[in-house]
Amino acid sequence: MKKIVIIGGGIAGLSAGCYAKMNGYDAHIYEMHNLPGGLCTAWKRKGYTFDVCIHWLEGTSSNSPFHSIWQELGVIQDKKIHYQDVSVRLISNGHVVNFYCDPDKLAKHLKEIAPEDSEAIDELVYTIRKAYTLFNMPLTKAKELFSVIDKLKNIKSFVPYMKFFIKYARMNIDEFAAKFKNPVLKQAILGLMVDTQFNEFFGVPFMIATQGCGFPEGGSLNFAKSIEQSYIKLGGKIHYNSKIEKILVNNNKAVGIKLEDGKEVKADMVISAADGYSTIFKMLDGKFINKKIRNCYETQPTFPTYLQVSIGLDMDLSSHSNLNNSIYNFYKLDKPIEIAGKEHRFLSLKNYAFDPTFSPKGKTTLVAGFSCKFENWEKLSQNREQYQQEKKKVERAVISFLKKIIPNIEDKIEAIDVATPLTIVRYTNNWKGSYMGWANPFSAKISRTLPKLKNFFMIGQWVGDTGVSGAAKSGRDSIEYICKKDKKRFITTTP
Ligand SMILES: Cc1cc2nc3c(=O)[nH]c(=O)nc-3n(C[C@H](O)[C@H](O)[C@H](O)COP(=O)(O)OP(=O)(O)OC[C@H]3O[C@@H](n4cnc5c(N)ncnc54)[C@H](O)[C@@H]3O)c2cc1C
Repeated sequence: MKKIVIIGGGIAGLSAGCYAKMNGYDAHIYEMHNLPGGLCTAWKRKGYTFDVCIHWLEGTSSNSPFHSIWQELGVIQDKKIHYQDVSVRLISNGHVVNFYCDPDKLAKHLKEIAPEDSEAIDELVYTIRKAYTLFNMPLTKAKELFSVIDKLKNIKSFVPYMKFFIKYARMNIDEFAAKFKNPVLKQAILGLMVDTQFNEFFGVPFMIATQGCGFPEGGSLNFAKSIEQSYIKLGGKIHYNSKIEKILVNNNKAVGIKLEDGKEVKADMVISAADGYSTIFKMLDGKFINKKIRNCYETQPTFPTYLQVSIGLDMDLSSHSNLNNSIYNFYKLDKPIEIAGKEHRFLSLKNYAFDPTFSPKGKTTLVAGFSCKFENWEKLSQNREQYQQEKKKVERAVISFLKKIIPNIEDKIEAIDVATPLTIVRYTNNWKGSYMGWANPFSAKISRTLPKLKNFFMIGQWVGDTGVSGAAKSGRDSIEYICKKDKKRFITTTP
């Protein structure tokens, strides 16, 4: 039986492990952490779950092309899924704008706020409908296996979107917001991207088009653990607390891995589901690159990193009039908060009261989040005291903001925790703490194999397969690719 070693037990690695087992390979996942899931994670404090990842999971509803992957991985069948009708709620100076996922409902709501902006609203809704059709395009086989005909068919499937891409791909958000006369809507559109360091409008329709993307009860870590359980049930082996230092190469063939403790493990095939930078430049010493790869790592911006303040409250906020029981509430701050040298004008607040597993009965988990600049935090971390002080400062800023919404909130805090971009790096090894890989996976255009290196494949967010569903699909693709190389029929079974 051929042995496949998979570096990283995030969603991409777990998925590759499951499909490897379904296809009769001897699969071993090596994960540096003591838990599965990578970025798709959560932690517990005093009975509260502090979740960091899933807001919207593509493929929870049966009409999504990703649904079959979750079925194959055996993780969706028994899960209760929570759906929200609002993708993002923007609260600014007492005005509330609900970005409903349903385009008709959204158009009606926005036109009630600003009938004078009817034309701009219709244009926004048009882009959201386009995003939905793109999200619902059937999944293809692994792109490495495309024949010329497949490539032509793939190009053809994008032809109806050419006008859409040409018009909006380069439009910046200010340009789009300028189409609105109503100051509340203008502000709301700008607010959607304001703290993310992105200036492109393109992110907006994809952010709102979340109808049918649910939240699996129990949250991100629970979801990752379900895939881990499927993998173990299929006979896969997962080795925790096992950081990989090198990928062993002989005659331009990956032949195994070397762990941090010096132990070597031989394999017929190595799949890296770990951070792209460390895979290419550390584990492989930068020996298998070309100009395109170097250029990508030198010039392409990474997706921003993230800071999270998680709070366990001895209060039931499931129906509080001042705080919606929903996943994304963006508040415009009266006074910007400066965090590690970056000014934040908005605060995103998640209220997890909709999931009863997140906190003891009658209590609530809240999460405030900020997009951050990694370099600033990296610099701060060099001085332990300053780093801790900055964490305290954010904690205080979030509490004083919350006090304006719920005056007695401070006395009700039972648990509080600040996770910084450095926490992301420590727990997942992601380059610059990025939580989606590249800022623009289309312009990064990274290949999943490396020049001149055989028996090796890369998967996950650093090869453009972003998000939880993208990561799972790339795990599937890697095994489909290996089966083809081994002249085996690729099979899927439900565990
Ligand atoms: C705040 C936040 C919100 C998000 N919201 C969503 C959302 O709503 N929907 C969505 O679909 N996605 C969302 N994402 C993104 C999603 O979590 C990621 O894109 C996806 O989980 C990436 O999976 P991956 O397997 O490619 O990488 P990772 O999760 O980074 O997994 C890589 C794994 O490799 C391990 N590893 C790294 N180096 C080594 C080494 N040397 N040796 C051994 N192991 C190693 C790491 O520990 C990790 O477990 C969000 C992420 C965050 C942080």
